[in-house]
Amino acid sequence: MQIKCCAACGKSFPIRTQKTGQSYCSQPDCQKVRRRRWQQEKRKSDPDYAENQARAQQAWSKRNSDYWKNYRTAHPDYVEQNRKMQHARNARSSVDKRGVIAKMDVSNEPFRLVTGLYELTPIAAVGIAKMDVWTVELRVVARAQSVKSAIAKR
Ligand SMILES: [Zn+2]
Repeated sequence: MQIKCCAACGKSFPIRTQKTGQSYCSQPDCQKVRRRRWQQEKRKSDPDYAENQARAQQAWSKRNSDYWKNYRTAHPDYVEQNRKMQHARNARSSVDKRGVIAKMDVSNEPFRLVTGLYELTPIAAVGIAKMDVWTVELRVVARAQSVKSAIAKR
């Protein structure tokens, strides 16, 4: 009897020598992982399979249109987490769905960056007793349009 490490959970499991292709143990969760990975590979390598899967998924969604609605009602944590992640994604991309570049909301800025000397500390160094602090000069060369006009009025 040979021993192998499961590609999903990493625990060792016995394999029969006839079936050397076996990479996953018999745990139901590991078998799920094995099937999911096989499907992912199959979708990548076989366009017909991918199209079939997409069609089946669409048909299922049509038959079970309330599924996600019910799921969201039953899992408020999931909804909140999703909302936060979408918010973060939106913040990262400054282009909205219509392809319009979002204007910077100046009123929501925590502070306004001004030219001057700043202390720069690597985030990783915070909490370490002896950390390097750099003194850097930041010069503002461009501002959001609304800020510029506010200055012009002065
Ligand atoms: Zn396993």
